[in-house]
Amino acid sequence: MTYQNYSLKQLQQIDAAHHLHPFTDHKEMREAGSRIITHASGPFIYDSEGTEILDGMAGLWCVNIGYGRDELAEAAYAQMKELPYYNSFFKCSSPTPVLLAKKLAELAPKHVNQVFFGSSGSEANDTALRLVRHYWALEGKPEKNRIISRKSAYHGSTIAGTSLGGMEPMHRQLNGAVPNIVHVMMPYAYELALPGESDHDFGLRAAKAVEDAILEAGADKVAAFIGEPVMGAGGVKIPPMSYWPEVQRICRKYDVLLMLDEVITGYGRTGEWFAAQTFDIEPDTITTAKALTSGYQPLSALLVGDRIAATLVEKGGEFNHGYTYAGHPVACAVALKNLEIIEREGLVDRVKNDTGPYFAKALQEHIGGHDLVGEVRSIGLMGAIEIVRDKATKERFLPAGSAAVTVRDHAVAQGMMLRATGDTMILSPPLIWTHETIDMACGRIAKALDLGQADLR
Ligand code: PLP
Repeated sequence: MTYQNYSLKQLQQIDAAHHLHPFTDHKEMREAGSRIITHASGPFIYDSEGTEILDGMAGLWCVNIGYGRDELAEAAYAQMKELPYYNSFFKCSSPTPVLLAKKLAELAPKHVNQVFFGSSGSEANDTALRLVRHYWALEGKPEKNRIISRKSAYHGSTIAGTSLGGMEPMHRQLNGAVPNIVHVMMPYAYELALPGESDHDFGLRAAKAVEDAILEAGADKVAAFIGEPVMGAGGVKIPPMSYWPEVQRICRKYDVLLMLDEVITGYGRTGEWFAAQTFDIEPDTITTAKALTSGYQPLSALLVGDRIAATLVEKGGEFNHGYTYAGHPVACAVALKNLEIIEREGLVDRVKNDTGPYFAKALQEHIGGHDLVGEVRSIGLMGAIEIVRDKATKERFLPAGSAAVTVRDHAVAQGMMLRATGDTMILSPPLIWTHETIDMACGRIAKALDLGQADLR
C-alpha cells in the first residue's frame, strides 16, 4: 500500500503517533500537525494537498542541484545492482569511494588530498575532533587538546557536535559536554560591532577573541580552532573579509590547527567549490556533507590537509575510529554524479558571477527597504533578513524570535519555504535558481513581510 491510500489527516495522525522529529516540540506538533511533503521537482516541493512551494532552503541547505534528477537515481540503481555495500575497514576498499576521494582531492584546495567518509555532518565533525587530538598525540603533545569554537556555532547534534557547537539551548540539554572545548564571540557585526566601528576593524576584533582564548589556555594546550566560514544555522552570519585571514594568521602564530566546517558552504554555495577559497584560507580539515550528494543520499566527507595526513602515515598506529557506512558505495556513486552535474552545468561559476550578485541586488532592492527589515545580507546563494521593530535602533519584537516565525508562516502560505532562526530569516536555495526564481522568491517574501507587518503592528 502506498501513501496515496492515506488521507493527509491519517498521515499526520500516524506521524504524531510514531515518529519523533529532530528539533521539534512534540506537544506543539501534535496539536498543529505536520506538513507532509510528498514530492518535488526542480526548485519546487509539493505537499500532500498538491500545494506548490518554492524551496528557499534547498531542503536543509543541501539540494544544490534541485529535485527530480533522474541521473542520480540511475547512478544509485546501477551501484546497488553491482555492489550495494562493502566496508572500507581492514584494508578493504571498493572502486566508488576511491574515485570519489580522488575527485574531492582535485576539487579541494591544493594542500588537501585525503578524505575520511561518514554519513552525516555531525559524524564528520566527530571524526575531525578525534583526528586533530590524535594528530597532536602522535606529535608527542597529547596535552595540546583544547578546541576553540564560537558562541552560536552549529556543528551538529551528536554529543561531540553539540559540544563543538555553541548553541545554548542544545548545551542546556547535554548534561555534560565533551571536555576542553571553549566558545568565543562570533563575527556578527549587525549586533556586536561597536558604534562607529568599521566592518574591517570589527572582523579583527572578533579574530582577536581567538587569540585571547589561545593565550588564556596557553598555546601548548590548544589543538585547534573550529568555525563555519559563514555561520549557517546561527543565522547566516557573514564575517567581515578581515576575519578569516586574521584567524588563520593567529592560528599559525601559535601552531594551532584550523578546522573549517563547510557542511553548508561546501560544493558551491558561496560561489567557489569551498568557502575556504572564497575567504582565501588554508584549513587543516574541512568538514563537508549535505550538497556532496545534493542530499539525495546521506554522505559526509572530512577533507584532511597534508600536514595531518603526513603525520598519520609517518607515525603510523591505528586510528581507532570509523563508521560502518564510511564510503558507502551507493552514496559515493550518487556524489560522483552530483559533482559531475554541478561541473557540467557550471553551477559554481554561475553563483559567483551571475545568480549570487543578482540575489544580493534583488534582496537589497525588494526586501532591504521594508519597515520590518533591519538588514539584508548575502554571500553567493545564502542570505539573511533581520526582522526588527525599529530599523534605526535595531529594536526587536518580543518575545524574541516570534516576529520571524510570523513572517515565515506567511511566506509558506505564499508558496515560499524559508527558515526563521531567532529574529533572522534565512535563505539557502538550490544553486539552479535563475533570475526568474529569485524574482519570484523576493515577490513572495515581500508579500509575507507586508502581511506580517499587519499582524505585528
Ligand atoms: N555542521 C554544520 C555547519 C551544519 O550546518 C550541520 C547541519 O546543519 C552539521 C554540521 C550537522 O550535519 P548533519 O545534520 O548532517 O549531522
